[in-house]
Amino acid sequence: AKAAGRNGIRWFEPQMLAENNDRLALSAALRQALDQDELSLVYQPQVDLVTGEVVGVEALARWTSPSLGPVPPDRFIPVAEDGGMIAQLGGWVLSTACTALAQVQEQLGRPLRLAVNVSPRQLRGRTWLDEIATAIEVAGIEPCQLEVEITEGLLIEDHGDVVAMLESLRTLGVSIVVDDFGRGYSSLAYLTQFPIDKLKIDRSFVQEIGTAKNAAIVDAIIVMAHALGMTVVAEGVETADQERYLRERGCDEVQGYLYSPGVPAGSLEMVTRALSRQ
Ligand code: C2E
Ligand code: CA
Ligand code: CA
Ligand code: CA
Repeated sequence: AKAAGRNGIRWFEPQMLAENNDRLALSAALRQALDQDELSLVYQPQVDLVTGEVVGVEALARWTSPSLGPVPPDRFIPVAEDGGMIAQLGGWVLSTACTALAQVQEQLGRPLRLAVNVSPRQLRGRTWLDEIATAIEVAGIEPCQLEVEITEGLLIEDHGDVVAMLESLRTLGVSIVVDDFGRGYSSLAYLTQFPIDKLKIDRSFVQEIGTAKNAAIVDAIIVMAHALGMTVVAEGVETADQERYLRERGCDEVQGYLYSPGVPAGSLEMVTRALSRQ
């Protein structure tokens, strides 16, 4: 029903109105959620393929609305972006996650890295860099422990500002990760133009690693990343076969349901210890 008509005319359909209403309701509920602490974070462990140790976690936003029930981030993040709430949400994610990391590493007695997802629109604001520096300082963690995950789209869009911003992040000591690598765009030129530390292989390639073509893509990403001096993490690892393949090919880190889903901060110490013993 959403398809454009012949001649590009979009015929009005009742369903379009319903979708629009849903989005408005969601937007209003999210605005309230941000003020009333309905959001939370879970943390998914990332495992070093050589040592088998948990070396980091990725923070993932969760929202259970009293009226709408659980709403997945793939639905509410775009609403936050369109509704002008992403800066507030992103700021909250950053400070909450940095504080949680500080606590967990105190429990563990060793440092971990923290990866935070950042949406392109969040970076437009001038205050963002200050916010990162402040969150790090307040939590008492080191800048080199923080990784910012951005998607390829950001690197293709408006160029100048983004380079400058990423350079400042780098100067601060924060690492830059390209998320969902290989999924969105075919241009590789940006890999040499931006200060990128790490590539995260998109889970669609990892999950189809059993097919020759996808395995070839995974191989190529790993070789290319290493040749460019970057590290590689694979996401969505669900089976021992996928893990074995990635290890053989020299992938550095893995993340996925094979190890753990995202867990609340309070469970992270236990999960991390259990995984690192295996
Ligand atoms: P993403 O950054 O690509 O995050 C990975 C997603 O894959 C997460 O979904 C995670 O729960 C899921 N996942 C992890 N391991 C496995 C696995 O083994 N198999 C499968 N099938 N899935 C796995 P989630 O938490 O629903 O997040 C969806 C997306 O929402 C994220 O994709 C990210 O783009 C966005 N997102 C989540 N939290 C934030 C946030 O705090 N800020 C921003 N800007 N975006 C966020
Ligand atoms: Ca991510
Ligand atoms: Ca991803
Ligand atoms: Ca994503």
